[in-house]
Amino acid sequence: MTALANSPEFHYQDGQLHVEALALAAIAQEVGTPFYCYSSAAIRRTYDNFASALRGLDPHIAYAMKANGNLAVIATFAGLGAGADVVSEGEVRRALAAGVPPAKIVFSGVGKTEAELEMALQAGVLLINVESEVELDTLSAVAVRLGVSARVALRVNPDVDPNTHAKISTGRKENKFGIDTGRIMAAFARAVDLPGMEIDGLAIHIGSQLTDIEPFRRAFTILATLVRELRGAGHTVRRLDLGGGLGIAYGDEPGPSAGGYAELVRQTVGDLDCQLTFEPGRALIGNAGVLVTAVILVKDSASRRFIVLDSAMNDLTRPSLYSAEHAIVAVAEPAADAPLHPFDIVGPICETGDTFATGRSLAPVRAGDLLAICSAGAYGAVMASSYNARLLIPEVLVDDGDFAVVRRRPTFDEMLDQDYIPDWIEKRESSENRAPVGPDVSAKSARRDRG
Ligand SMILES: *Cc1c(COP(=O)(O)O)cnc(C)c1O
Repeated sequence: MTALANSPEFHYQDGQLHVEALALAAIAQEVGTPFYCYSSAAIRRTYDNFASALRGLDPHIAYAMKANGNLAVIATFAGLGAGADVVSEGEVRRALAAGVPPAKIVFSGVGKTEAELEMALQAGVLLINVESEVELDTLSAVAVRLGVSARVALRVNPDVDPNTHAKISTGRKENKFGIDTGRIMAAFARAVDLPGMEIDGLAIHIGSQLTDIEPFRRAFTILATLVRELRGAGHTVRRLDLGGGLGIAYGDEPGPSAGGYAELVRQTVGDLDCQLTFEPGRALIGNAGVLVTAVILVKDSASRRFIVLDSAMNDLTRPSLYSAEHAIVAVAEPAADAPLHPFDIVGPICETGDTFATGRSLAPVRAGDLLAICSAGAYGAVMASSYNARLLIPEVLVDDGDFAVVRRRPTFDEMLDQDYIPDWIEKRESSENRAPVGPDVSAKSARRDRG
């Protein structure tokens, strides 16, 4: 029985890729392709591994739900004791709806609106990470107006290069995030004096998908120095929010270990007697999900052989956005001696960027075969769009021998209903613009002709 390199919950059994006790092909039969599929066992194993690596540090783990905001996923984490790191009002609402206690919610983000701050304060979130002096004033005013006290941490921009993709690097001084190290003392003193808030400590988040953990060491060391300086100036610093960012392996290489990360945390900030908050997203969910997609056709050109999938860049943007290389495997296990060919694996969207992989070695595939795009649990479904009028794809959560569609595929009617044609546009009522006959054409779509 062979398993996917970084997620043993996805494994071949009797020639078929299974997630826990279920064959992905059987789920595909019922749900249709493409779809995201997550493993509860992988979520539990990864969370327990992260939490036990930090044992002794009394960590507050706030799952960064922007990585995967499905309510069932958040509820699974909440059931394991996790809080949530949120970045918008919508995420506060999702966290609450999934059963995360407000006292475990951390609100981060470089541009929170007054309405969002107000909503978060009314919900009673644990902590608001403030990213600028301007935001301190806004938050103070909102809290005073509501008659509450906001617990805040200042997000430090440590000017550390996280050695990751430029689009997900957040800790360099030219990035928009946080307050420069040199201004932290003054900002902290200012926060102490402002009404409506209680300043609790400092926060940091230097970037995402860090596979080299040394930049964390540099950043946390800067944080520790700031804590000592603040205390030296007579301030109380009770909390450090160390952010997220721990990377995962997207291929066969070993990923960074939670143990190594935890050791580094102990060495840099372990003796400061601060409550530690962590905001892992990708590290907890990235390898707990795959995207299951079917081959539409295989096409040869003069120089390349293309596998065209029914999934595209709108479903999983990471390859086109970050040049990410996801492992891609056949759902039906190829024979051990099957010849391998280089394929370009692409979606059907009219953009060359709609490419999942180039020159990937795979055993031959045919139309209708299923493939699994691995490590698709984080920044997959949440970043999907309906570009090309493609429907958002469903999400499935497996637990041992059970599965549930935890977000269903919308219908074309629902897609069309989101738009409105104003009265001043004369709508032609000819036979040419009737909706085509097909499975999605119902009495409901006929009734859309509002006259
Ligand atoms: C994105 C983000 C995270 C999570 O990042 P991962 O790389 O998924 O761990 C945590 N905290 C903040 C403030 C973020 O913006």
